[in-house]
Amino acid sequence: MPYVISTAAASLTFVVSILFTVLLLHQAPSILDSPIEYLKGVGPLKGDMLRKELGIFTFRDLLEHFPLRHIDKTKVDDIYSITLQTEYIQVAGKITHMEVLGQKSAKRLVAQLQDGTGTLELAWFQGIHWVQKTVQEGQRYLVYGRTGFFNGKPQMTHPDVEPLSEVNTDGKSYLEPIYPTTEKLKARGLSAKQMGKLTSALLAQVSEKDIPENIPAHILQRLQYVGRFKAICDIHFPRSAEDYSRAVDRLKFEEFFVAQVRLGMMRLSRQRYSKGVVFSSVGDRFNTFYHKYLPFELTGAQKRVLKEIRADTGRPHQMNRLLQGDVGSGKTIVALLSMLLAADNGFQSCMMAPTEILAQQHYTSLLELLKDMPVQVRLITGSTKTKARRIILHQLKEGVVDIIVGTHAVIEDKVEFKNLGLAIVDEQHRFGVAQRAALWKKAVIPPHVLVMTATPIPRTLAMTAYGDLDYSIMNELPPGRQPVATVHRFENYRAKVMEFVRTEIEQGRQAYIIYPLIEESETLSYEDLMQGYEQVKSFFPEPRYRISMVHGRMSAEQKEVNMSRFVKGDTHIMVSTTVIEVGVNVPNASIMVIESAEKFGLSQLHQLRGRVGRGSEKSFCILLTSPKLSNDAKERLKTICATNDGFKIAEKDLELRGPGQIEGTKQSGLLNFKLASLVNDKALLDAAKHYAEEVLDKDENLEAAENVPLKIFLLSQKGKTAWSKIS
Ligand code: ADP
Ligand code: MG
Repeated sequence: MPYVISTAAASLTFVVSILFTVLLLHQAPSILDSPIEYLKGVGPLKGDMLRKELGIFTFRDLLEHFPLRHIDKTKVDDIYSITLQTEYIQVAGKITHMEVLGQKSAKRLVAQLQDGTGTLELAWFQGIHWVQKTVQEGQRYLVYGRTGFFNGKPQMTHPDVEPLSEVNTDGKSYLEPIYPTTEKLKARGLSAKQMGKLTSALLAQVSEKDIPENIPAHILQRLQYVGRFKAICDIHFPRSAEDYSRAVDRLKFEEFFVAQVRLGMMRLSRQRYSKGVVFSSVGDRFNTFYHKYLPFELTGAQKRVLKEIRADTGRPHQMNRLLQGDVGSGKTIVALLSMLLAADNGFQSCMMAPTEILAQQHYTSLLELLKDMPVQVRLITGSTKTKARRIILHQLKEGVVDIIVGTHAVIEDKVEFKNLGLAIVDEQHRFGVAQRAALWKKAVIPPHVLVMTATPIPRTLAMTAYGDLDYSIMNELPPGRQPVATVHRFENYRAKVMEFVRTEIEQGRQAYIIYPLIEESETLSYEDLMQGYEQVKSFFPEPRYRISMVHGRMSAEQKEVNMSRFVKGDTHIMVSTTVIEVGVNVPNASIMVIESAEKFGLSQLHQLRGRVGRGSEKSFCILLTSPKLSNDAKERLKTICATNDGFKIAEKDLELRGPGQIEGTKQSGLLNFKLASLVNDKALLDAAKHYAEEVLDKDENLEAAENVPLKIFLLSQKGKTAWSKIS
C-alpha cells in the first residue's frame, strides 16, 4: 500500500518540522509570565485574591484583563441630576457623616456625600473595616459607581472612592479605565480604579518586545490597524475615544484571526497528513441504487454535497465533515448513498443516531430503500437481545454486514469491524473526542467521519467552533414542500385548536401534540403530560380516534410499539414529549400542537416543527402558551412564526442566547473570545477568515519570515487550546 508509506513519511516530516520550529523558536521566558504577586503593589495576599476572584495568575493575565468602560475624569456630575434612569455616574463632594448601622450579617457602613446640589448616600456591606481606614469624614472625594434609589433617596453601594487631591489632573489621560472586579477584591483594596493603577504600573515596565506583533505586517497595513503594543496600551489608557475603538477593533480582529489560522492549520494538517481509506470508484451498488431505486430526483444541494464527499473520500486522507442541513432537507439519503460508496469499495459503514427510536427508524427506512439490493444492513441498540447481538457482532467481524445502524452503542468496546471505512453520526452537532477516539480503535486506518447536524448552526459559530472540520451546507428543501404555517395562540384557545385538529384528522391526516417534558426525572412535568393525555382524550372521546403516547419513561419496547403504530397510521394522534424531537419522519402528519411552547428554545421548536410539513399536504404548527410571557419568549415565538428558515432561526437563537448556550459548544475552548462577539462582529470574522486563508494558502506551515511572529505566538498559546486533529 504505497500511499500509506508516503503519508507516513509526510506526517513524519510534519512532526519533525514542528519539533524543529519549537526548538528554534524557544525563547527566554517573558516578564509577562511572572506570577502576579511579584508585581509591585500586589504581594502574596492580593495575589491570591486576584487568582481566585479573577483568574489572574500572571502579569500577562492582568494586561488581558480589559476595562469594562472608561470614565472621563474631567466629567463630574451634580448629585442633583441623579434620576431613576441614571446608571453610572461620577460625582465629587465632601463626606459629611459616616456611621456603622445594623448588626452581624446586616452590618453596613453608610456615608453621606454632599456636593452643594444634593446628598448622595454611600453604602458598604463588605470590607467595612478597610473603608473606614481609607475614607474619612470631612474629606473631599471623587466618587464613581452605579446609582440606585433606597427609601426614595439616591444611593450608591460599593462606590469607587478616590481622594480628590490625588486625582490626576495633568491633562495626560482623560479617560480612566474601569475594570471588572468583585466585592471581595474591593474589600481588599482592589477596586476597579486600583486595578487601573496596577495595570498602569505594569505597562510602564513593559515595552514593544514584551508584546510583539503577531499579525503579518502587510495585513496590518492593508487594514490600517494599530500595532499590538499600542493596541494593548490604548485599550487600557486611550487618549481619545477613537484611539480606544481602534485598539478594540484591532484586538478583536486579532482574536478571530489567530483562531482562524489555528483552525485552518488543524484542517490542513488533517487533510494532508492524516491517513484515510480510499473509496476509489463508484461501483455497482451505488449505480444500481441511483438509477433504479432512488425514489426521487436529488436536489441540487444533495448532489453537490455528495460530490464533496466523493472528492474527500477519493483521497487517502481522513474525511472529517460536518453536514449542515435544515430539518427535512434530506440528509438521510446522502448518508445512504455515501454508505453505498463505501460498500462498493469493500468497506463497512456505521450510522449512529442519538436515540433508539431514531436508530430504529433509520434502520427501517434503509431496509425499505435497499430491499432489492444486495446490501446487508443490521441494527444494534441497547435493547438488542443477547443472542441476536452475538450473531450481529460475529457478522460484523467477518465482514458479512455492510451497514450497521445503531445508537452510540455501535462504538462500544466489544464491537469489532472487519474494515470500517465510514462512520456517520446523525443529528448531532459535535461528535465528542472520546467517541472519535473510540472509532479510531475500530480500524487500522481511521474511518471517514460524516457528522450531520440536527438543526443549522449560525454561520459565525460554525466558522469558529467547527472551523477545523470540512463543511457542507444543504440549504435547499426537496421540491414541493410547503412551508409549515405557524401560529401562536394563548391556552384559552385550546378548544378551538382541538376542533381544528379534528377537521384535519377527518381529512385523513395525523397530528402531534407535544409537551415540554425536559428531564425524564421531572415528576411534575411527567404528571403534566399525563393530565395532558387525559385532556386530549376528552377532546377526542369517540372510539374511532386512536391516540398513541411516547415519553422518556417508557421502555424502549413500549416506545417502539407506540411509535410504529403512529408511523403506520394506526393511530391518529401522537401525544409526546420531546423524545420525538429529532429525526422522526411521518409524512402524513400535517399538524402539530406544542403545549407550553414558551418553555422551548428556538432551535428545539424548529426541530419539533420539522416533524410536520414532510408530505405534500399543507401543514400547521400551533404554539400554545400561557398569557404571561417574558420578552425573550415573545421574541422566540415571533421568530418561529415568521420564518421556516432554519439558518435564520439559528442566527436569532445565537443572538438571544449567546454562543455559550448553543448545544454542543459549551466545552469548546475555541469560543473564549475576550472582546470579539459572534453576534456583533460578523464582518470582522469574515475578514479574519479571509486573511487567515490567504496566509495559509501561501505558507501553510508559517515558515516565511513575515509569518514567523505569528507562528511563535501560536506556539506560545499551545497549552491554551487543544492542538490536535481531534476536534
Ligand atoms: P433530514 O435532513 O431532516 O434528516 P430526511 O432525510 O429525513 O431529512 O428527509 C426528509 C424527507 O424528505 C423524507 O421523507 C425523504 O424521503 C424526503 N426527501 C429527501 N430528499 C428528497 C428529494 N430530493 N426529493 C423529494 N423528497 C426527498
Ligand atoms: Mg434526519
